[in-house]
Amino acid sequence: MTSCPRVRVKSALSKSGLPDLDYSLNPYVGCQHGCLYCYAREYTKYREVVERWGSLVYVKENLLALLERETRRLRPGTVGVSTVTDPYQPVESEVGLTRRSVEVLLKRGFRVSVQTKSPLVLRDLDLLAAKRDSVDVGFTIITLDSGVASLLEPGAPPPGARAEALLRVSERGVRTWLFYGPVIPGFNDDAESFAGVLEEVIGGVDLVHIDKLRITPRVRESLGSAVGDLERIEAAVRSASWWSRVLGEFESVCARLGARCVASLAEPLGSEGGLSGLWARADRAP
Ligand code: SF4
Repeated sequence: MTSCPRVRVKSALSKSGLPDLDYSLNPYVGCQHGCLYCYAREYTKYREVVERWGSLVYVKENLLALLERETRRLRPGTVGVSTVTDPYQPVESEVGLTRRSVEVLLKRGFRVSVQTKSPLVLRDLDLLAAKRDSVDVGFTIITLDSGVASLLEPGAPPPGARAEALLRVSERGVRTWLFYGPVIPGFNDDAESFAGVLEEVIGGVDLVHIDKLRITPRVRESLGSAVGDLERIEAAVRSASWWSRVLGEFESVCARLGARCVASLAEPLGSEGGLSGLWARADRAP
């Protein structure tokens, strides 16, 4: 059971340091999906939310008033919705803050780049499709194995439902992307797992982002209590040869399936061609 009290904030849009985003908008503080690998906790200033990640979410009650004001004054650009929370987590179905924020942004000439794990985004497909040239929608899917998904992403909708939603968004002419991240050694770092996910969405996906696990102190705590052998996972994540092997294998899958894939900025490969030198939304919470 999640508790979702209201909180007042000082601003709606934050400047983004990411190469493809100008601003970020996070309607909620915290995330009911409660993924064990989530490093968004490191960017959350409310200690109680961090401690109760997944079961305490603050709703930014004055967000829309601030957004109306800020969008009049700021130069229009691309807004990441969202970067440290899932904009379509369950509370959104009652509160509708994401939908109303997207309406304001599109009305004021901003581009919107959505990232979610939830088919709830389909509720807003009318709005998104009406402005398809100003919108893209990304879905995070790291596995098709429902056991792994419910272990690592206990509050998130099942991966199959996300894949289906991606295809439905794409059918309406909205640009879509798959975020395959984090890649976790021993869980989803093999070509077969990656190919399985990619094949589910291949008819609709325009771009695939691949990102590896980041182990922050909070991630170490939450993952460590759920998976065995965290030391082995950490050692692999630190090793350049592991990531290089993963990207090499994934690159072959992308080539075979005809998908355009890019790797995280965190670890660009040095070689020419393929995934090297490209970048992804490395600092977005997956
Ligand atoms: S990884 Fe994304 S969906 Fe999961 S808890 Fe963090 S912000 Fe929410």
